[in-house]
Amino acid sequence: MRSSPRVKSLLQASLALSVVASAWISTPAIAADEVNVYSYRQPFLIKPMFDQFTKETGIKVNTVFAKKGLVERLQNEGKNSPADLIFTVDVGNLSGAVQSGVTQGVESDTLNRNIPSEFRDTDGHWFGLTNRARIIVTSKERIAEGEVTRYEDLAKPEFAGRICTRSGKHVYMNALISSMIAHHGEADAKAWLTGVKDNLARTPQGNDRAQVKAISEGECDIAIINSYYMGAMQTDEEQFAWADSVNIIFPNQGDRGTHMNIAGMSMTASAPNKDNALKLMEFLSSDLAQAMYAEQNHEYPVNKAVPASGLVRSWGEFNHDPLPLSDVVKHRVTASKLVDEVGYDG
Ligand code: FE
Repeated sequence: MRSSPRVKSLLQASLALSVVASAWISTPAIAADEVNVYSYRQPFLIKPMFDQFTKETGIKVNTVFAKKGLVERLQNEGKNSPADLIFTVDVGNLSGAVQSGVTQGVESDTLNRNIPSEFRDTDGHWFGLTNRARIIVTSKERIAEGEVTRYEDLAKPEFAGRICTRSGKHVYMNALISSMIAHHGEADAKAWLTGVKDNLARTPQGNDRAQVKAISEGECDIAIINSYYMGAMQTDEEQFAWADSVNIIFPNQGDRGTHMNIAGMSMTASAPNKDNALKLMEFLSSDLAQAMYAEQNHEYPVNKAVPASGLVRSWGEFNHDPLPLSDVVKHRVTASKLVDEVGYDG
């Protein structure tokens, strides 16, 4: 192809992008055989599936990875954005992108068939690709079997000074608190959160794995973490002992089931390669991609035809909360307000 001045300037623009991120090799907005992804997810998690997609379809996937600022970047780029899809974790982040106006609804029988309705937006603005359970982990030495079985138990006075969690403002905690509001109403959720706060062994700090480490060091007896971190620790020589100090509890098996979250994707409002983007979305919900994706991060495939990895299955079977995440995420502003009201973060 000969380069017109317009193509040249687009090419220069795309090369400029590559300075801040990874490879933009050609002119994303005009090439017919490409799809452009902005991703908060790390390359090692999604690149293998993108490579497989390219192998099967001939459609090249250009990816920009960043830890933050991609939604703002989409807003700034507006309708000239080269991005077709955005990938992120947590329904709160996906919902935030929708509220920022950078996504569009997608209708696809394939996506609706492969992804259970509780893990996708009712208007098709976001779709979950992997699941993570928000599990409770308890000290093998200091908590007896059956002592903790529900999220509600964490507010019981006998656990005073024995619980560790990360900040109540973090998206993972926000979604759990939102789910408590969805099931119990704001007043009861607030009473619960107050109880959990009163039981904290220390001011919320660190990430999910740091809570398990704290249990292994005797600082607390109970923590709330995302399930895949157990897999990460169990396969890490230095962290294996942390994981080995706790039992995994899938909460609320006697009632509504365990709270789940997702890592997912949205089509951008301006997607220049809409057809290719939809093909990639559908591919990622397929059996092959689902098996690859979930295995990379010890997550659960959203596609129920696909089994989790052997390690993940070794944690046991459980029932998940079937309440749609679109109903949970509605409460995220209230959840954040409750965290402030009860002084959860100290
Ligand atoms: Fe995480």
